This record gives sequence, structure tokens and C-alpha cells, in this order.
Amino acid sequence: MQATETVKSAAQEAWKKRPLIISGPCSAETEEQVIETAQRLAATGKIDMLRAGIWKPRTRPGTFEGVGTKGLAWLQQAKKLTGLPLTVEVATAKQVEDALHFDIDVLWIGARTTVNPFSVQEVADALRGSNVPVLIKNPINPDLELWMGAVERIAKVGVKEIGLIHRGFSSYGNTEYRNAPMWHLAIEMKRRNPELLMINDPSHICGRRDILLEVAQKAIDLDYDGLIIESHIDPDKAWSDAKQQVTPEKLAEMLDQIVWRREDVASEEFHQALERLRQQINHLDDELMQILGQRMKVAEKIAVYKKENNITILQTNRWNEILDRATQRAEKLGLSKEFITKYFDAVHMESISHQTKIFNS
Ligand code: PEP
Ligand code: MN
Repeated sequence: MQATETVKSAAQEAWKKRPLIISGPCSAETEEQVIETAQRLAATGKIDMLRAGIWKPRTRPGTFEGVGTKGLAWLQQAKKLTGLPLTVEVATAKQVEDALHFDIDVLWIGARTTVNPFSVQEVADALRGSNVPVLIKNPINPDLELWMGAVERIAKVGVKEIGLIHRGFSSYGNTEYRNAPMWHLAIEMKRRNPELLMINDPSHICGRRDILLEVAQKAIDLDYDGLIIESHIDPDKAWSDAKQQVTPEKLAEMLDQIVWRREDVASEEFHQALERLRQQINHLDDELMQILGQRMKVAEKIAVYKKENNITILQTNRWNEILDRATQRAEKLGLSKEFITKYFDAVHMESISHQTKIFNS
């Protein structure tokens, strides 16, 4: 009884720790693998919670789908030996029941489950009355409302401690990442839910181990509350997600290389300097908006001429000319082509809407 309580309070403590570092294999494979991973992770002294997939929702059948419930006993043993609290993925009511039966401290909802309101509701109903913390991964598609919906369903059954895991979004065609981070979506989710823990999952974003550090650093720079990174005693031989896993020792090295940042410091001098620079940003933003307003006024004048002469609003040649000019200048100003294209798309759409008003008046 006492041992269980100590671990329970370890889980509570871990939940509050910043940064919260979670690691462990993508999948529990054998008892030896789970225990050796846990022991080597614990030996680094840098890990707060042990993760392992027990039931693996795989995109295609015929790949390893997890060892199932028997793996929970291995995790329980790993917790007993190392004191590390545990987290596993659950996708059905039965899995919730089994995980709670084996004293799993924190449950997580996977990206393939968050997309499905029926599944999230089933998990939520199974959680009613238990006070286990729940981490909710972003859905595989870039849809914030689905992510929000999952948070609401879990909160509604009385779960008090909820966290978010940003694991990136799938997109058609290969990008540098396995799952495109689309940082702006996670930032918006954090803005909407400032009270929820926000954890980054570099492993599933990267899909490869060589860029884990740079994604982890970016998350820390963006004030995430923690990281969940997969580790394996023999990464290349892992039964799932082999390319993205690292050994516990490699992970510890990586954590040492991260520059840990705080959102705030007490120094008066720092605050004053920051305040001055923020004032400059405010002035520049005001000026940019003034200029954009003027630009739209000119577009409206053009619209009057176009209307009088019965000419279309969209002039594709002119639009190409604007884009070419802008991208050339952008490069010299140190602005990325991607940003300038998005920016001009937005300006152009706004201009079309101003001109449409003139056409309809
Ligand atoms: C995992 O964490 O191993 C996993 C299956 O992740 P995701 O749900 O993000 O694909
Ligand atoms: Mn995985």
C-alpha cells in the first residue's frame, strides 16, 4: 500500500515538474526490453515518466500491433524497480479499464483516436469517476476543433488534469518531417487553453533521430512544458518506429545539449530592455497597418476604373508581376519566400474583397 502511494505522489510530482520529460519505447516488446529501458532511463536521472505503447494503432495491418495487456505487468514491474511513474496510450474502454487495473499513472490518447469523437467519448465514459491525468495528442489532421473537442469530452467527465501533446500533422507527400509540426496550430491551442500542460513529441514529428534535438529545442524556445521522446535499448531493432528512437544514454546527451529557457526572469534591466523593444514592435505594427489601410484605398480607386471600363478584378499577369517583384525584394531583406508568398496571398485576397465591394456598390 505504502509503495503504491509513494509512486502515486511521484506521479503527482512529475505532473507538476517543468520541464516534464517522458521517455520510453514506442512499444513494449518483451519484459526484458521494458525493464532494461526503464532502468537505463532512470540511471540518467533526467527522466520523470516512463512511456510505452501496449496497444499500437498501426496505419497498415500486418505490422506489430502491440503485446497487449500482458505488457502492463512488465510496466508495473519497471515502476517497482525504478520508481518511474507510467503512461500508456488508450483507445477503447477496455484498454482504460486494463490500464487502471495495472495502476498506470497517466493515460494518453493517440493521434489516430483524437480524430474520432466516438472513440474519444468511449474513452471519456470509461474515465468517469477516476482521477487519472490524461494527455491528449493532436489529431493526425490539422483540425484544432477536433483537438478541442477531445479536450472537452475528457474534461466533461470530470478529469481534472489534462495535458496536450503536439506530435505534428500528416500531410500528403514527403516533407522533411514525418508529421509536419505546423507550430502555429499548437501555439493557437496553447493560447486557447493556457491552463493545460503542453508537451512536444519530437519523435513523431521528426520520424528520424538526426533532427530530434532541433525540434526539441524549438519547443523549449516556444515555452512548452515538457517533451515526450521515444527511447529503446537497441533502436535499430525496435519493432515499431525504429528510425526515430534513441538509446537512453543518447537521449540524456541530447537533453544536456538543450538550452533550457524560462518564460520570465526577475531582472529589472532585462524587463526594461524587453519593454523598449516591444514598444518598437508595437510602433512598427501600427505603421504596417496604416500602410495596409492606404494600400487598400488605392486598390479601391483602381476598382472604380476597372468597373467603369468593364475589366475583371483579377488580372493574373499583374498578380504574377507583384509576386515576382516581392519575392526578389524579400530575399534581400532576409524574409523567406514562404512567408512573403503567404503575406501577399493574404493582402491580395483582402484587396479583392475591397474591390468586390466597389463592384457591387
Ligand atoms: C506513439 O506515441 O507511439 C504513437 C502511436 O503516437 P501517435 O498517436 O502520435 O502516432
Ligand atoms: Mn511511436
